[in-house]
Amino acid sequence: MELKEIAPEIFCLKVAIDLSEEHVNLYILRGKVPTLIDAGTNTPEVYQAIQEALQELGIQRLEQVLLTHWHVDHAGGAENLRKDGARILIGKRDYEEWVDFCSGKSFKVFEEYAGQVWGVPPEQLAMILKYNKKLAYLTALPEEVAKIEVGEVIPAGNGTLKTILTPGHTAGHMSYYEEDLGLLFSGDFLLPDVVPYPGAWLENGAIVSGLPSYMRALERVEFLGAKAYFPAHGNARRTPASRCMEIRNQILRQIDRYTPSGSVYAGGLELSKGHFNPLSAFAYMHYVFGWDSLKFPSTASKTASMS
Ligand SMILES: [Zn+2]
Repeated sequence: MELKEIAPEIFCLKVAIDLSEEHVNLYILRGKVPTLIDAGTNTPEVYQAIQEALQELGIQRLEQVLLTHWHVDHAGGAENLRKDGARILIGKRDYEEWVDFCSGKSFKVFEEYAGQVWGVPPEQLAMILKYNKKLAYLTALPEEVAKIEVGEVIPAGNGTLKTILTPGHTAGHMSYYEEDLGLLFSGDFLLPDVVPYPGAWLENGAIVSGLPSYMRALERVEFLGAKAYFPAHGNARRTPASRCMEIRNQILRQIDRYTPSGSVYAGGLELSKGHFNPLSAFAYMHYVFGWDSLKFPSTASKTASMS
């Protein structure tokens, strides 16, 4: 575990995880309202690292855990911290996705949809599902959560955090903004080294890509006036506005260059140069689906509707 003060009374705790990313950053705000942003995976190692960090900082009890999104490397360990007395806060839509993941509903939807609409062959589909189902061991749905309102201002540390809805990677992804210092805790919304893959979710019975809402969120955050951002993976950086612009331009260039070559599965496979890997295939298909929905909005919504 690596603990570093990144702003007065604000600390970054970098913990190792065994996933596509090797580390996840959790942020601790010391002071009147001891707060943790994101909880890591549900593993003894991560729990231990958090306890050690709290001890080192002289924090007796965490008041609250603010989750950026429900994915296992960010929210997985929250239930352990709730049992220790912390309040767990998460965006409403993300909580629903988390429930669907834990109940297995999202696997069922993905299986149907990816097989029928994205054209994933049965054998490859089984491999993707197997990988994703394995992730369920890394998360525990808390018995009780508080659902965050958009724009809510939450006392945290010695100041406040404003909740900024930044969907795309997940439907209810939240970023937390320390307005006085101009610091944005950006979760997987804004990453310094990669473009987060756009998620897909059910909306009125149809699967939609997160990419259009992601593009809008990038535009909003570009004009937030934040001075620096603290991402969930990689190092803190200055000028989040320029990173927003950079990612938007990168996505627009990809869409421009992209020519659909059949199914979403075929497009995803092309991105991985014909080599199938369950993890990258999952992410690549989400890109292709997103590009499709931005390039040909009408076709994408037509093929996306499920009976
Ligand atoms: Zn992540």
